[in-house]
Amino acid sequence: MSSSPIKLSGVVSFWEEKSEFLWRHCHEIPANRAIAVPLQRTLLRQVRDIDRILLRKGLTPAALALPTGRVYAALEMLSDEVLFDRAVMGLIAAKEAARGYAGKLVVSLMPMRPLWTVRRRQGRSKLKCNLGFINSSPEIWGAIVQSVVVKRTAHRDQLVDEAALSNPFQEIVGRLNRWSNAVGVRGQVHDLEELFSRVNDTYFSGVLGAPDMTWSETVTVRTFGRYEFSQDRVVISASLDQPEVPEWVVEFVLYHELLHKVHGLQRRAKRNIAHTRAFKADERRFERFDEAEQFLSQWAHKLRT
Ligand SMILES: [Zn+2]
Repeated sequence: MSSSPIKLSGVVSFWEEKSEFLWRHCHEIPANRAIAVPLQRTLLRQVRDIDRILLRKGLTPAALALPTGRVYAALEMLSDEVLFDRAVMGLIAAKEAARGYAGKLVVSLMPMRPLWTVRRRQGRSKLKCNLGFINSSPEIWGAIVQSVVVKRTAHRDQLVDEAALSNPFQEIVGRLNRWSNAVGVRGQVHDLEELFSRVNDTYFSGVLGAPDMTWSETVTVRTFGRYEFSQDRVVISASLDQPEVPEWVVEFVLYHELLHKVHGLQRRAKRNIAHTRAFKADERRFERFDEAEQFLSQWAHKLRT
């Protein structure tokens, strides 16, 4: 379909309004279905309304402009009871973490590309959180809220980044982008398959089996890659798919994640250790190791400012 994308006025503001309602009432919902049921019905009605408009024009949701298309997918998602409950639990965790600041903070879930954004005005903060976090633990919600109401720290950034690169998060975001062009293995700038075969030839004699590889849909600021053992899957952060990021830097991040595949997890003192001494020694075999590390720490700094 080549016609210009369709914007439907009011869809995004409808979402924002319902999302704020959800924040105000989330703690009452588990005990009182009388709040959730009509809300879910309203969400579903909006989905059907959009469907009807599209149908009249002979179009599919793929024809929707990006923000509208994502909101459409989000509405559809939250009309599913399980995901709706997860969203509620996430907001409850956020509220818990914001105790003492509750009057000064509004948290809304947004189908968007950044992980979270905050706007402060007259002592009040409006925090928008990526909808992907509905699959995250209360600890992650705590880290986001604390970053806003207390202080942003490297540790909190890292927790949030790792959650954002995890499968449960990427699964939600993948569904939200179902109607737009999926990112997948070929980014805007760098092609992971191409980089993989080079890394494989240089460091693994070309014998390493290719894992499932994808660019993340969202932009992280400190952690740039993740290897998921259970799925044999590498996710590389979209923040590296930029012309200013040299190929060898992405190769280094990919190499690091592939080493996880090779080394596995060592269980020690009841903890899983991924970055063992042997792992770190192997990591140093990367030709431009120091340069790559330095680039990444500067890049992380640039992304945060
Ligand atoms: Zn690692």
